Amino acid sequence: MAAIHPISDSAARHHAAALLRSGELVAFPTETVYGLGADATDESAVARIFEVKERPRFNPLISHVPSIEAAFALGQADARAETIAEVFWPGPLTLVLKRNATCPIAWLTSAGLDSIALRVPGAALARDLLIEVGRPIAAPSANRSGRISPTTADHVALELGDRIPMILDGGPCDVGLESTVLDLSGTTARLLRPGGISRSEIEALIGPVALAQAGETISGPGMLASHYAPDAPLRLNATACQPGEAFLDFGATLSGTAAQDLSPSGNLMEAAANLFALLRALDRPAVRRIAVAPIHLNGDPESGLAAAINDRLRRAAAPRG
Ligand code: AMP
Ligand code: MG
Repeated sequence: MAAIHPISDSAARHHAAALLRSGELVAFPTETVYGLGADATDESAVARIFEVKERPRFNPLISHVPSIEAAFALGQADARAETIAEVFWPGPLTLVLKRNATCPIAWLTSAGLDSIALRVPGAALARDLLIEVGRPIAAPSANRSGRISPTTADHVALELGDRIPMILDGGPCDVGLESTVLDLSGTTARLLRPGGISRSEIEALIGPVALAQAGETISGPGMLASHYAPDAPLRLNATACQPGEAFLDFGATLSGTAAQDLSPSGNLMEAAANLFALLRALDRPAVRRIAVAPIHLNGDPESGLAAAINDRLRRAAAPRG
C-alpha cells in the first residue's frame, strides 16, 4: 500500500522527489485536485500513469512547474501568455503553448502534439515539491479512469493506494475543480476547458477568446486539433511490409528486418513509451504508408495499455477530410 505522508513534512517531500526522479509515481495535492505525478520528461514514467489510471486513451497531460520562468523555458510564450501568467500564476489556470525546440517533455505527455500544457499550481507546498524534483511533473487527476477527481488523500488511497508507492497529504483541496485550460499555441486564443477562472476574466486581459468547437476538446471523442496523427497514412494489423511502407512492429513479428519495434519483447508499457516518438521517426516524406503490426496483450487488443495504443492508432488511421 502507498505510504501517506503530510506534504508539509520536508523529509516526505524529499523522499517523494527522489521517487519521482527515479521514474516512480507519487500522488500530491494541488489547489485544484490531487494529481497523479510522474516525471514529464520520462516516457516510461508517463506510460505508467496511463496504466495505473486504466485510461483507455492517451490524452495530453498537464506538466506542472514551480515558476513562470520554468514554464517559459519549456513553451513559447508571447505577450498574451506573459500577461496571463503574470496575473493568474500561480493558480488554477493551464496554458497550452507551442513546445520550444529544446523542450524535454516526453511525447507521450503531449500525446504526440507539438504543443504542451503547463501550469504553476497555486498550492505553495506543491511548488516546493516541484522545486525539489527539478523537472516538470505530468499529473492528471489521481483517480482511476471514469471516477471522480479526488480532493483528499483518503480518496486517492481508495482509488490508487494499491498501485503507487506514495501519497502526499495536504488535506482537502481548496478549489476542488480542475483548472481552466487556455490554448495560446495559435493566433486565436481558445478556451479548451472551462474552470474557476472565467472566459470574461481572460478576455479582459487579452481580448476575444474563442470557445473550442464541440468535439475539439481533448475530452470529446473527436479530438480534432488536439489529436496527433502522422502525415503518412497508417495500415493497421499488418503482418507483412508492402513496397513504400515503413513497418512499425510489436513483439518482433518481422524479426530479422530493419523495422522499428514498439517493444521487441511485446511489453505494452514499453510500447506506450515509444509510440509517439517512433510514429514521428517513421513519418518521413519518403514513406508512403506506415504499416503497424497488431498490438495486443496475449491476443487481446483491448486489454490494459493495448486499448489506449489501439485507440490512438485507429484515430491516426481514420480517413482525414
Ligand atoms: P487533466 O486530465 O485534468 O490533466 O486534463 C488535461 C487537459 O489539458 C485536457 O482537458 C486537455 O484539454 C488539455 N490539454 C493538455 N495538453 C494539451 C495540448 N497539448 N493541446 C490541447 N489540450 C491540451
Ligand atoms: Mg480527471
